Amino acid sequence: MSPDPVYTLADLESWSRPAPSLAVLGHPIDHSLSPPMHNAALAAEASSGRHPADWRYFRFDIPPSDLPRALTQLQARRFRGVNLTVPHKVMAFDLVKEIDFQARICGAVNTLLLTPVGWHGYNTDGYGLAAAVGENFGRELAGATILLLGAGGAARGAAVECLSRRCASLWIANRTREHLDRLLVFLRPMAGGIPMRALDDSAAPPEGAIVVNATSAGLRPGEPSPIDLSLLPQPAAVMDMIYNPARTALLAQAERLGVPAANGMSMLAHQGAKSLEIWTGIPAERSAPVMLAAGRAALEQPT
Ligand code: NDP
Repeated sequence: MSPDPVYTLADLESWSRPAPSLAVLGHPIDHSLSPPMHNAALAAEASSGRHPADWRYFRFDIPPSDLPRALTQLQARRFRGVNLTVPHKVMAFDLVKEIDFQARICGAVNTLLLTPVGWHGYNTDGYGLAAAVGENFGRELAGATILLLGAGGAARGAAVECLSRRCASLWIANRTREHLDRLLVFLRPMAGGIPMRALDDSAAPPEGAIVVNATSAGLRPGEPSPIDLSLLPQPAAVMDMIYNPARTALLAQAERLGVPAANGMSMLAHQGAKSLEIWTGIPAERSAPVMLAAGRAALEQPT
């Protein structure tokens, strides 16, 4: 998909690049769009003379057992920043020196900044979701009725963002009821009076909800949608966090019903742009369109 090489812990142990480096760690990592997206944004800034031209972003395949060693090595090699993806977002929580408030309540970090005292952890996924909803639907999470599908890590981050931005109400549906109940218990203390409900046979959100799919149902081509939209009062918009495939069964149904719909590429670009802002100060609003175009182009390349 992307021509960027995949590095390993062994490469990191002998890393000698003197110029500022950034990295994404995951396992697997070969399908990550982050290197082409970040390198495109860095190149755009460099070509306009706004940022030094020698910054680069690399990807590393790091199994979970190697994460502590990898973070120590990245610090020793003076990497400026790191993105974490599956399966490291929760595990890294206990390995960093300081944690930003938003990441703390999500219980997961996706962005690390090297500071004089060590790694500082952030979570930019919630920002990415809010920015993508604004960009695609011209809507704010504040004041909106949200129907969230899923109860895993991405759903938890999305729910925290919706509540902290004061959505009007939050409905949650999930395949495994026990996981959904656990998420509701976790969220209850931060709801601050915002109504929260499980979607079930006895109740559904009113017309005009923003549906956010934070399940992995649809990641495999041809996989069925996690919900039948025709059984709900007409939603205002449907955002699927999945971006590959670009058109899931959920998005296809939304289009058939005439509901504005968007996949997760915009969210990915915005959360990435926010990470880059944390590391470099380059405004996220400026990098996001460059990252979006680079991500789409990388997806279109033959694997
Ligand atoms: P988790 O593994 O933590 O959670 C997976 C969730 O999906 C659970 O709620 C699980 O339900 C549900 N699920 C899995 N398979 C099915 C199925 N066949 N039918 C219905 N529900 C299902 O994953 P994450 O929360 O980390 O990620 C979820 C999705 O969000 C992924 O597709 C990921 O790529 C995407 N994502 C996109 C981002 C972006 O920037 N665009 C950022 C972060 C995530 P159960 O509890 O029953 O197991």
